[in-house]
Amino acid sequence: MIKKYFILTFGCQMNESDSERMASLFESIGLKQSLEIESADLVIVNMCSVRQSAVDRILGIANKFKELRQKKKGFKAILTGCMLDPDKDKFIKIFDFVLNKEDLEVWPQILAGEGISSKKKRDYLKITPKQSSSFQGFVPISNGCDNFCTYCAVPYARGRLICRKHTDILKEVKMLAEKGYKEIWLLGENVNSYLSPADKKINFADIIRRIDKIKGDFWLRFTSPHPKDFSDELIETLAKSPKFAPYINLPAQSGDDEILHKMNRPYSSKKYLEVVRKIRKSFAENRVGLEKEVAISTDIIVGFPTETKKQFLNTVKLFNLAKFDMAFIAQYSPRPQSHCYKNMKDDVKKVDKRLRHKELTETLRLVGLGRNKVFLNKEISVLIFEKYKGYYLGRSRQNKAIKIFSKKENIIGEKINVRVIKVLPLSLEAEQV
Ligand code: SF4
Repeated sequence: MIKKYFILTFGCQMNESDSERMASLFESIGLKQSLEIESADLVIVNMCSVRQSAVDRILGIANKFKELRQKKKGFKAILTGCMLDPDKDKFIKIFDFVLNKEDLEVWPQILAGEGISSKKKRDYLKITPKQSSSFQGFVPISNGCDNFCTYCAVPYARGRLICRKHTDILKEVKMLAEKGYKEIWLLGENVNSYLSPADKKINFADIIRRIDKIKGDFWLRFTSPHPKDFSDELIETLAKSPKFAPYINLPAQSGDDEILHKMNRPYSSKKYLEVVRKIRKSFAENRVGLEKEVAISTDIIVGFPTETKKQFLNTVKLFNLAKFDMAFIAQYSPRPQSHCYKNMKDDVKKVDKRLRHKELTETLRLVGLGRNKVFLNKEISVLIFEKYKGYYLGRSRQNKAIKIFSKKENIIGEKINVRVIKVLPLSLEAEQV
């Protein structure tokens, strides 16, 4: 008999959030969460075909399952999440069930061997999640993506864009705010293309405005937006919504127009920089003190097929002009089912990808240090996430990683005021005031 479940989650915050809903479902039928895989009778692997590293790790789990099946009678393993067909086929023998998360509410019936209607429309996001943190909450506002960037597998693995009703989103945010959550993230692959299915006039800016009015001492954040949908209305709304913490991740992917075109990213580097300029201007005009300092991060792929050194240098130029606070830099690797995988040769040498990654990281460190200097000797508010070797680690309103020296005990999950005593290229150091 199944008594304990264990969820192994790969990939992005959307998958983390989906796992919280899975946990809630299993608890509702009397199962207990196990903190280690060895003591579970049911293992759920919430996978991510979008990243090769997750696919590789699942192959490594096969032996563990063999061992658990021998030790535990009735052991079951479920594979779910963002799956590309070739990966599904590869893993089908290792798992007892391969299930769609969209059918989550009927998983117990499937596990019990009962038949279910495959035609019935289900909404797994209606299941109230079992939050894994008591102070940081994730609220999905949409699922999937219609953009079909040529390197990306998300539209195939997660499916096309489906937005949640605004009323469901607001209800979930309100519930977290009432419980005293300190930070709330809105999630989606392309959050700013949001339109409520209950009322198409309600867009992402409306969602921000409505959440801003909800009572509670929480910082509002979101990920990820698309530059093409970053309207003036949204920029002004963000700058004028005090709960929105001044940090925006704006994925550029490249600073070269030809590469952007090949990526099916419908904007130029000029247009992208225009959005960055408008964001900084609007925060400078509408906020006071350090709240004017909106932090902007980006996602970049180096070594995209056909990218020349000259084209790569346009990305370096973009970093110097946009003055990013942070960047998530990836070396291109083809993802199965994507347009690039089928149609473009991965022709940039590995060594060049590595060198470009290194050069861009060095540029980021220089511009990042310049951006961080404004915080030196300033008093700022920090949300504490963990304790590590005698100091705490937290995040500021600008989502800056901060090392904090404090003699206080048990401050994880609290917001405290600190004074910044040192600035580093990609982080800050501070002491409690
Ligand atoms: S916007 Fe592009 S990169 Fe982002 S999830 Fe959609 S297809 Fe992928």
